[in-house]
Amino acid sequence: MNRKIKHYSVLALGFLLVISLMIMDQQSEASTNYALLLLSLILLAGTLEFTVGALLLAVASALALVAGHLLQWLPQSGAVTGIIAVGLMSGFMALISQDRDVRLKAEAQEREPKAHELLKVERKAFMIRRQIEGHKERLDGLIKLYQVAKKLSGVIKLEAMLDEARLEVAQLFAQHFSANSEEDARLAFYIPDEESSDFLRVGVRGHEISDEGFPDQLPVPELKRWLGDSFSAVRIKDLSSDPRFENFARGSHFRSLLAIPLVMHDIVIGLMLLATSQPGSYSPTDFTQAEVLGKQIVFALRKALLYRKVQTLSFTDSQTGLYVHRYFQERLREEIHRAERYHQHLALIMLDLDHFKKVNDEHGHQVGDAVLVEVAARIQEMAGTTALVARYGGEEFAVLLPNTTQARATLVAQSINTFLKATSVDVGELKLTITLSAGVSTYPEDSLSRESLIATADAALYQAKNDGRDLVRVFKGKPLKKS
Ligand code: GH3
Ligand code: MG
Ligand code: MG
Repeated sequence: MNRKIKHYSVLALGFLLVISLMIMDQQSEASTNYALLLLSLILLAGTLEFTVGALLLAVASALALVAGHLLQWLPQSGAVTGIIAVGLMSGFMALISQDRDVRLKAEAQEREPKAHELLKVERKAFMIRRQIEGHKERLDGLIKLYQVAKKLSGVIKLEAMLDEARLEVAQLFAQHFSANSEEDARLAFYIPDEESSDFLRVGVRGHEISDEGFPDQLPVPELKRWLGDSFSAVRIKDLSSDPRFENFARGSHFRSLLAIPLVMHDIVIGLMLLATSQPGSYSPTDFTQAEVLGKQIVFALRKALLYRKVQTLSFTDSQTGLYVHRYFQERLREEIHRAERYHQHLALIMLDLDHFKKVNDEHGHQVGDAVLVEVAARIQEMAGTTALVARYGGEEFAVLLPNTTQARATLVAQSINTFLKATSVDVGELKLTITLSAGVSTYPEDSLSRESLIATADAALYQAKNDGRDLVRVFKGKPLKKS
């Protein structure tokens, strides 16, 4: 029951009791008035919930009635009735108020531990929130890495995959690579060469992030000096004051370095180098992030390397080791796209041995075959590692030079021509002087499509043959537009 209603009910009951007793006792008017006045005051105090006040009034009224009785103001029976009535009232009031006090105290006590509990719960909630935030951050990081891994794994070709990886690194180290950074930040990827086991730089082609300043080749002993026998990743604050990097620092303007070996099943399948021209560029967090990113790259790298191996097996000519015609066409298509996308040059040299029929006729087909192998090796050597050299057909070869101007391509063609005729091709006892003719064509000056690049290089080659052979000719016709 509601506490107030109980309270009033008790007061009303007491009031009725007193009235009825007074009527029964035929009280004098004065004592009835006294009793009524006091009860009204008690009622008022009770209504205001001033319980202590009600109690005091009750006691005061009792005393007043006793005093009235003693001084004979009131008839005895009326005073007794009054005392009984007021005493009863006071008792009830006191009980109620005590009951109420006890309950309030209990409630307060109940509330107190609740407040304490609440504080504990709030603290726990805060901790959980922080944990969730931490987990979320970690989860975001993991999701990001997963996305990176997915993106990289989706690109099967080594060069394209490394281009993607470069973008990821650039994003991760945006502050170093940004155009307004004072640091000259660079990034290079290396993969081991199957024959020499040296680490070779996988050249950047058509990418805004440069790998200039890094050596083309890193011999394993040098790498071990850098990274220790176990090939551990390192963060170097200042290369110029680290004796391990003496050679490297001498030949470059780099000061800070992150060297992250790309290791899979304890085998180093690649290396990622990040460097800047300022000392102390990389924080320990940068280092950790680079290592984590390296772990994502390594999966994609392995896949790309395997793919490359399979491709190499099916796309190389078993006789000369050069790429086959089909593969050359495919790569030419890609390289045209790349040149278009990055607004670069692309040069094609078509080569054809001069009077090769004569070699066959005079020395036999087998000698002819042996000459082709040697010629292929010489072309490859002079063209360099960034060139794609293919056996275009019989004794015709194609050299594709990405990001190469006409002038540079002409030099390459001339060096192949000179190198071949300068030294005889020896087959057993035979010493043969072999010459070739070359035609050079360049994207975008001479042609804008794959077909026309081949056609214009062929036209230049035809010109060289016409002009007497053992010559290099650059395409001089009208540029052939995209077909
Ligand atoms: P030109 O200077 O006009 O090019 O004269 P050429 O004799 O070289 O003429 P052409 O290029 O038309 O002839 C190609 C010859 O190369 C025909 C073929 O006997 C020979 N040949 C093509 N493939 C092979 C090969 O795999 N092995 C050998 N031994 N000879 C080949
Ligand atoms: Mg020919
Ligand atoms: Mg020929």
